[in-house]
Amino acid sequence: MTDRKSIQTTLIHSEYVPPAGFGAFPTAIHHASTVLFKNVAAMRSRNWQDKNAYTYGLHGTPTTFTLEARLAEIEGGTHCLLAPSGLAAIAMVDLGLLKSGDDVLLPDNVYNPNRELGRWLSQDFGISVRFYDPLIGSGIADLIQSNTRLVWTEAPGSVSMEVPDIPAICTAVHERKATGQDIHVALDNTWSAGIAFKAFDHGVDIVMQALTKYQSGGSDVLMGAVITRDRELMHRIEMAHMRVGFGVSGDDTYLVLRGLPTMKLRFDAHDAAARKVASWLKARPEIGRVLHPAFEDCPGHAIWKRDFTGAGGLFSVVFDERYSEEQTDRFVDSLKLFKIGFSWGGAASLCVPYRIQGMRRNWQGSGQLVRFNIGLEDPVDLIADIEQAFESLSRS
Ligand SMILES: *Cc1c(COP(=O)(O)O)cnc(C)c1O
Repeated sequence: MTDRKSIQTTLIHSEYVPPAGFGAFPTAIHHASTVLFKNVAAMRSRNWQDKNAYTYGLHGTPTTFTLEARLAEIEGGTHCLLAPSGLAAIAMVDLGLLKSGDDVLLPDNVYNPNRELGRWLSQDFGISVRFYDPLIGSGIADLIQSNTRLVWTEAPGSVSMEVPDIPAICTAVHERKATGQDIHVALDNTWSAGIAFKAFDHGVDIVMQALTKYQSGGSDVLMGAVITRDRELMHRIEMAHMRVGFGVSGDDTYLVLRGLPTMKLRFDAHDAAARKVASWLKARPEIGRVLHPAFEDCPGHAIWKRDFTGAGGLFSVVFDERYSEEQTDRFVDSLKLFKIGFSWGGAASLCVPYRIQGMRRNWQGSGQLVRFNIGLEDPVDLIADIEQAFESLSRS
């Protein structure tokens, strides 16, 4: 071989290495399927689970390891694993910890795709899935069977916003664990972003986050994470991650990293604005109940006061029962600043009507439920928007 390679080869192989010592705030975005080994011995001795080294793009790059480490810090955990969406993170926990013959408990107000995943596990995978009253507290002890492996919690629950007594549920589960049963509490902690509820301090074993929401803050990326304080537990979840290939892209990871420095400022701004809008709604004759954990109408409000340090931008209201679905749909359609769409945690305010009566086993009342995500707009303008949309309620 001569020193001069063909242009075709030169386009692929280069000797150039940039100087070391570059410093800047952003985390570098690493793209890789193939990860290179120095020699065969290094390749043969590599352990894909070792986060001090690299094996394959799917098992992590400096970019994804950095986000994992930062999320573990924020949540107060020690181990973190990314997934391509919040829902994928939920599935990764289920796949890592459940097998046919096992039992899992889900709150009746669980994030709906988690309920759908539960239905699938029970129909096609021989796993028993049971739903419990989210306000059950220590009563969960009566539902735990010898084959119960996982108790999912969500604080507050999706759409209907009940705040569960997480410490009481954890205590009941850990009493069973102390007898040698393989059982854990997982929490979907998305609403609190790891800021307003310190899950591990309250006894939770596994925290799940939809980074799609506040961590990203941009309404432009889907990602999820699972966090634990237990290496062995994370190992089981990691096996599921490896076996199904739940990789995330470097570019998406960068977007989430870029959102982190401003997350608490955004969260606090969402919180303050949401309480202003919710207070205004509370005083309106059109509204029956305000389902915001910081308001007394919300089931579990006392628990929120005891265990949480903030609230974020998401809450629901139940309209007075005199309004039909047609009228409240017209209200939502009449909003101008509030857009209609799922997901939340971005800068723009959103509003979604839900047919809650068909979604919960013991829902009381017939008023229409509408969920608000209060964005970062001036709340004065948001209130004016709601006020003008209320006029559409009486239009015939
Ligand atoms: C959005 C959300 C998820 C799922 O996140 P995706 O990234 O959209 O899959 C899970 N749980 C809660 C509470 C959520 O709000």
